[in-house]
Amino acid sequence: MTILDDLLARRLYLGVTGLSRAGKTVFITSLIHNLLRADAAASVCPLRNFDPFDDGRLIGAVLRHDANATIPEFPYAQAVKTLTGEDPRWPEPTRGISRIRVDIRYRRTGEGLTSAAATRLGLTEGVLQLEIVDYPGEWLVDLPMLSQTFETWSEAMLKQAREGSRAALSGDWLAFMEGRASDSAHDEEWAEQAATLYADYLHACADKGLRFLQPGRFLNPADLRGAAVLRFCPMPGASGTTPAAGTLHEAFRTKFRDYQEKVVRTFYSRHFAGLDRQIVLVDALTALNEGPEVFADMSTALSSVLHSFRHGSNTPLSWLTGRRISKVLFAATKADHVIRGDRLHLENLTRRMLHVLDETNAIKVAAGIDVAAIAAIRCTEDTRRADNGREILLGRRPGDDADTPLEPGAIPLDFPPDWDAFRYRYWDFQPHPDSSWRHGGFPNIRMPEVLNYLIGEDMR
Ligand code: GDP
Repeated sequence: MTILDDLLARRLYLGVTGLSRAGKTVFITSLIHNLLRADAAASVCPLRNFDPFDDGRLIGAVLRHDANATIPEFPYAQAVKTLTGEDPRWPEPTRGISRIRVDIRYRRTGEGLTSAAATRLGLTEGVLQLEIVDYPGEWLVDLPMLSQTFETWSEAMLKQAREGSRAALSGDWLAFMEGRASDSAHDEEWAEQAATLYADYLHACADKGLRFLQPGRFLNPADLRGAAVLRFCPMPGASGTTPAAGTLHEAFRTKFRDYQEKVVRTFYSRHFAGLDRQIVLVDALTALNEGPEVFADMSTALSSVLHSFRHGSNTPLSWLTGRRISKVLFAATKADHVIRGDRLHLENLTRRMLHVLDETNAIKVAAGIDVAAIAAIRCTEDTRRADNGREILLGRRPGDDADTPLEPGAIPLDFPPDWDAFRYRYWDFQPHPDSSWRHGGFPNIRMPEVLNYLIGEDMR
């Protein structure tokens, strides 16, 4: 890469997000690996249908390790090793924010670029510097907190903690909170214990599949682990009046404001404002598996996430200046968990869910939006039952040592799903021990189309 290349290159920031276990780590690993391993001469290539690849214009991609000195680099090499070793396993998920840059060299399409002069000037080829920013969707769930006071937020969180399956998980934290009145004198040690118990409660909710959990940094603190700004939690008895100085209520309210300003706003202005494109990964299948409460909770979390893509004045982010995300792709992940005929239903369910959650159509008109059902790494094969010809899957569930024929649950056609009509049941699958994955890239479902949508027009 020469200095001239760097000057002629186009830099594009792609955000990859999704709630915990939605598939961010697997998605980024597959995307990079397939770009690096692209081989036009191979009979099967996982990038087939990516337009620059099909047109023979993709020259090659390289990782750049010198791009980000201050933010952890996405652990690509480790993830590929884990996925393609002798005993392939899913990689450890990333926890906070990470970045990785891949430079993609391609031939331009433009008219008149074939002349010798254009070749000499280096105008026939281009470099797309793709900067991938991986961050937890939980941090986007915090956005509505910016328009709340500590007291209204507290009240809403306390109400939530007493409902449904949360009630059985919040007992220790609530009992601890009842032990001291909100107007007692502030005590930092007590505050730390209260925040720890609240974080334990949020983690227990997350383990049950619940996803509407605030503050998001309590689950993924990243560089804020142990920081004083996280020493607060919702407080019973914190009324709307101004608290007296030196009380617990006053201290928690101050921390809440610090959290709003120093954590939530800072994340949006330092990282989010710089993004050009965004993919939001949605694990609708796991939520369907868990039943109505978890599914409704994931929808609420997603509805908070959607606020982040509302642009313009009079929106939650109108204070934010900078570039604007011009395209957002909502991708329902793990589409290899369902039969071929249901992948379109999965896409439609996700589309309908977004439509219902975006009540005012504000997101639809703000950014280019698309929806896809994808599998970043495809672990199943489509086949049919010999007796009745019904579509089934062949794959290995955790613990299986060979492929097993399986009939997964069907995808509901409606949002919200009709819980009485179906029992939704899907299995997790293991990656295959297939040596071609290391050298040739990962089989997938619709990853090339994802690339066309997100970066295709930047490689013309
Ligand atoms: P993250 O927390 O968003 O980074 O989620 P991960 O990328 O770690 O994915 C969580 C889990 O989902 C993985 O360990 C896999 O079990 C499963 N998973 C993710 N992507 C795929 C996929 O494309 N196909 C299949 N079969 N499973 C996937």
